[in-house]
Amino acid sequence: SIMPATLSAISNGARHGVLFKGGSHLESLSSVKAIAFDKTGTLTEGRPAVTDLIIRDGLDRSETLSLLGTIESLSSHPLAVAIQAFAEREGAGLLQGVEIRDIPGSGLEADWERRTYRVGKPGFVGKEEATVFADGALERLGNEGKTVVFLRDDTGILALAALKDTLRPEAVEALGALRAIGIRTVMLTGDNEQTARAIAEEAGIDEYTAECLPETKVARLKELEKDYGTVAMIGDGINDAPALATASIGIAMGDGTGVALETADVVLMKNDLRRLPYASRLSGRMNRIVK
Ligand code: ADP
Ligand code: MG
Repeated sequence: SIMPATLSAISNGARHGVLFKGGSHLESLSSVKAIAFDKTGTLTEGRPAVTDLIIRDGLDRSETLSLLGTIESLSSHPLAVAIQAFAEREGAGLLQGVEIRDIPGSGLEADWERRTYRVGKPGFVGKEEATVFADGALERLGNEGKTVVFLRDDTGILALAALKDTLRPEAVEALGALRAIGIRTVMLTGDNEQTARAIAEEAGIDEYTAECLPETKVARLKELEKDYGTVAMIGDGINDAPALATASIGIAMGDGTGVALETADVVLMKNDLRRLPYASRLSGRMNRIVK
């Protein structure tokens, strides 16, 4: 049976937008020594916007954008939603008969009219070709905290789109409060090194690992648990689900994808990162009453 103090703390949490799927998660939260954060949609708003578009010389801009926009229209990834919206605003039409496969943490593979395309990060489309195509822009865009996405077919890179996401307004305050209560903050992201560093500095995160595949996030979590004991992971995407399941406590953003919400032990209903230090304090108070 559940203790009255636990019950009251759970309902307290719920009133403040923190949903605990069981008393044990609330109990163990105060012993968390490190929290791993996903970047896109967790530390950031997850509503990136396209800031730059470079099309290969000699290609028709609107045709290339139609292809890119159509491929991304078939994915629900925040980057995909932004690129599709940009293409639509630019008047690019949707193509018929495009089929995609989702490669979590990397991008998409698409088939259209007997050709295969790839959309995604440099490492996924071919790092060298991507670097040559970008002609120095890759590092500059990364230092601006922008994520760069490429489109390629079997002839090489066709286009580059850069996207800028914004840090959640409460992120700096929330991370500061966590540090003040002795919790180490770590960012695990599929994004590239430069972009990861720029966002980590802006947010004030203690350490980060870039270019993570879903399984890299899991491996990093296991290492963190060796170093810190109880570790929480917070994320929003399909690609975070394995890490959420691995962590001592999995936490999902309230407007995250279904799989993340199902896998998590705790849900931040209001997507407010300041609920993390709040929940840790709530757990500490409850444990003092229970013991
Ligand atoms: P994060 O860990 O920051 O949430 P993801 O693991 O979802 O990021 O994605 C990692 C990288 O893979 C992105 O930065 C992007 O370059 C690429 N990517 C993933 N999905 C897509 C997509 N649908 N369209 C374009 N790029 C994608
Ligand atoms: Mg995410």
